[in-house]
Formats: sequence, structure tokens, C-alpha cells
Amino acid sequence: MHCELKEKDRIGTINPIFTCQPAGAQYASIGIKECIGIVHGGQGCVMFVRLLISQHLKESFEIASSSVHEDGAVFGALDRVEQAVDVLLMRYPHVKVVPIISTCSTEVIGDDIDGVVRKLNEGLLQEKYAGREVHLIPIHTPSFVGSMVSGYDVAVRDFVKHFAEPGEPNGKVNLITGWVNPGDVKALKHLMAEMDIEANVLFEIESFDSPLMPDGNYVSHGSTTIEDLKSTGSASATLALNRYEGGQAAKYLESEFNQPTIVGPTPIGIRNTDTFLANLKTLTGKPIPHSLVVERGIAIDALTDLTHMFLADKRVAIYGNPDLVIGLAEFCLDLEMKPVLLLLGDDNPNYADDPRIQAIQENVDYPMEIITNADLWDLENRVKNEGLELDLILGHSKGRFAAMECNVPMVRVGFPTYDRAGLYRYPVVGYAGATWLAEQMANTLFTDMEYKKNKEWVLNVW
Ligand code: SF4
Repeated sequence: MHCELKEKDRIGTINPIFTCQPAGAQYASIGIKECIGIVHGGQGCVMFVRLLISQHLKESFEIASSSVHEDGAVFGALDRVEQAVDVLLMRYPHVKVVPIISTCSTEVIGDDIDGVVRKLNEGLLQEKYAGREVHLIPIHTPSFVGSMVSGYDVAVRDFVKHFAEPGEPNGKVNLITGWVNPGDVKALKHLMAEMDIEANVLFEIESFDSPLMPDGNYVSHGSTTIEDLKSTGSASATLALNRYEGGQAAKYLESEFNQPTIVGPTPIGIRNTDTFLANLKTLTGKPIPHSLVVERGIAIDALTDLTHMFLADKRVAIYGNPDLVIGLAEFCLDLEMKPVLLLLGDDNPNYADDPRIQAIQENVDYPMEIITNADLWDLENRVKNEGLELDLILGHSKGRFAAMECNVPMVRVGFPTYDRAGLYRYPVVGYAGATWLAEQMANTLFTDMEYKKNKEWVLNVW
């Protein structure tokens, strides 16, 4: 009995789990106020990503494209970046932050986005926009390496590198949330407020769960300001929740500003939320208040009602962003469930050194697989053709057809989840997230029991 970590044994991808690096950079950039990114590539690199993010969050927001055409693909397209920056600044007088996000095509043709940023800083911005604060930030996200996850990580690092300044310690804790939902941000802010800790929440997208106001606002934007980004250098500590989505920025702040820094664990489940609070206590010296002990107790009470009777031994497949997948797997193990298949959609060589994966490998006492560079065919094929038995699938909406084909119930979690209402509003982190996740899993299994007439009578006597 062991847990095997291995790469997908096929060339090519069928039904990918991730999209490409520029998508991650775009997700990071919408968390910044007064920021509109320019994606330097074909229009589809924005159009489909923006659609995906918009479907997930059910909000509208703005991202621009340099809209490279055939001539640019052959002769270079930096002139289109110059035009795009000028048009964007003219059309949006409030915009101050403009990341220039490269793509596969513009990296292959070798467009020097660092050079064009220097040229624009010395030319256009001095001549036409003198006196206006504008930050042009080159972000290299070729799609032929990494995934949307590494694209998010690279962008967060580059934004922080661009802005972070030394200064008098401000007593705040930088919180790098990683790729989360508005509901997660709200839950994390709540936990930190209960701890009486002032958080500098970076790339903050809580406002994407926004009210529709009488004045008819229809465009959402993130809440992290330039000042917030500059002040990352003078924070008293940095806590990055995810190793692969913000970990590089945390390491930069640690080395450049000598800040106490902790990366992970993603606070999914009781165990990891306990560690999150303990880390905050370590970084700030603030005690964990009784209110959070009560909150924890309420969550444990809810989980106790479900674990032994309904969740124990249920065989689960999980796919999606690595920090999320690992956190969910740890939570499932704590609930006595059996994660039998974890699918990570890129070939990051560091997974083998991840202590959380190593701990899972050392501790599971049943056959389990962790597949890197995986796709959704890895899931579907195992169930349909190789006899893998599953009770539940955890993952984003792109796997719904695999779940339907395999006749296995599914809980939507991760990005994107566009085929269920309001999921962006509910946290998966913290004690509230643990309760929500466990109850979602249980309710999904209950519905499946009824429809498959599998011990549905148990629900009458529970
Ligand atoms: S794979 Fe390349 S062309 Fe396609 S969306 Fe990603 S960056 Fe754009």
C-alpha cells in the first residue's frame, strides 16, 4: 500500500485542468485598484480568460489586449504595446498601474517588453502624461511553461518587487491569499480581525462580490492600492497562504526586507486553520481569542455529525490548483475519507519536495495516486476503463462532464465554478470553510444516495 507520485504517462493533454500562465497574471492584476493589465498577444488570450473569470465571479471588469495580428507575429509587435498603453491611459484617466503581460506568441517572437517599458517611461509618459503617476510593469508569462498557477505566482512576485519600499515598521501583516474567492477573503479578514491583527491583504478581490447600487455601477475592481503594495516592505511580517500562488513574493519580502515570513499551509480544514492561527500568533505575539475557540468548536461539532456515519471511507478524486488540492486532501484524510487520486495540472518539479505531499505519501495506508501534468482524461479513463471506484469528485466546473460520464457525484470547488450559483461567496478556508465543505460533500452524497436508492433510508433515521 503506498501513494505514488508520478507524471502522466501520455504525451498531449485531453481536457486540461489548467489554462495558461497569462490567465494567472490577469487574475492577480484584477486584485489591484486603478489597474488595467495589457495582455501582449492575440485577443483570445484576454477574451477567453476574461470570460472565464467573469463567468466564475459573475462580475464585469476590464483587461486590455495589444491584439497582435499576423504582421506582428512575423515582424514583432512592440508598436502595438506602445499604442495600447497610450490608448488605455487616454481612455481611463484614473488608471495608474498597467502590467504588460506577455503570452506564448510574443515570447516566441522575442518581443522585449522590458525594453518597451523603458522606452515608454522615458518617452510617452514624460511627454504626454507628465505629472501623472503611471507604473508600467513587464510580466513574463509564456504559456509553454508552467500554468495559470505559476502565472499568478510570477505576477504577484513582480508586482511586489516593483512596489515594495523600505520604511518605518507599520505593524501590519502582509497576507498573500493566493488564488481565492471573495468569500475566502472575507473569512480570512474575519479571522485576523478576531486576532486583532491589522492585515495588508494583497491582490484583494472581496469586492468582486459587489452590490448593485442605485447609480448602476457595473464594473468591479480589486481593493489593493499602490500604497498597500508599497507598504509591503515595511510590514512587520508576511504570511503567504499558498506555496505555489504567492510563495515567491513572500520569499522576496523575506530576503529583501528581512521580514519574518511564513509560507503555508493553506488554511483548509480544522488542522490547517489551527496552524494558520498559530502562525499569526507566532508572527505577532497576539493570543488566539476565545471567540475563535468557540468558532472552532462549532465547526468540530458539525463535522462530528457527519464524519463517522457518512464521510468515513468515501473514496475521493480531487483536481485543481495544487495548494487547494493538497489542502482538500489533508482535510478529507482528517474526515476519515480516502482521497485515492489527486490530479495536479502542471509539471512543476517541486511537487516531489513538497512536505505536505511527502507527509501524505508517508501516512496513507491504502493505494493512492498523485498525478502531475495531469488532465481530466486521467480521471475519466481510470473510472471508465481501469476500474477505479469513486464515491465523490472534488474539482472545478471543467470536470463536470467527466463526473457525469462516470456517474460520480461532484462538489464544485476551485476555479472556475460557473455552473453552480454563488460559489464564489462561500469560503473554503477557516473554520467556516471547513464546515461548508464538509456539509457540501455530505449533502452531495445524500442526494446521490437518494437517486441511486443506496441506503437512502439511513437519512430517515439520522
Ligand atoms: S496558450 Fe498562448 S495563445 Fe492561447 S491563451 Fe495562452 S498565451 Fe494566449
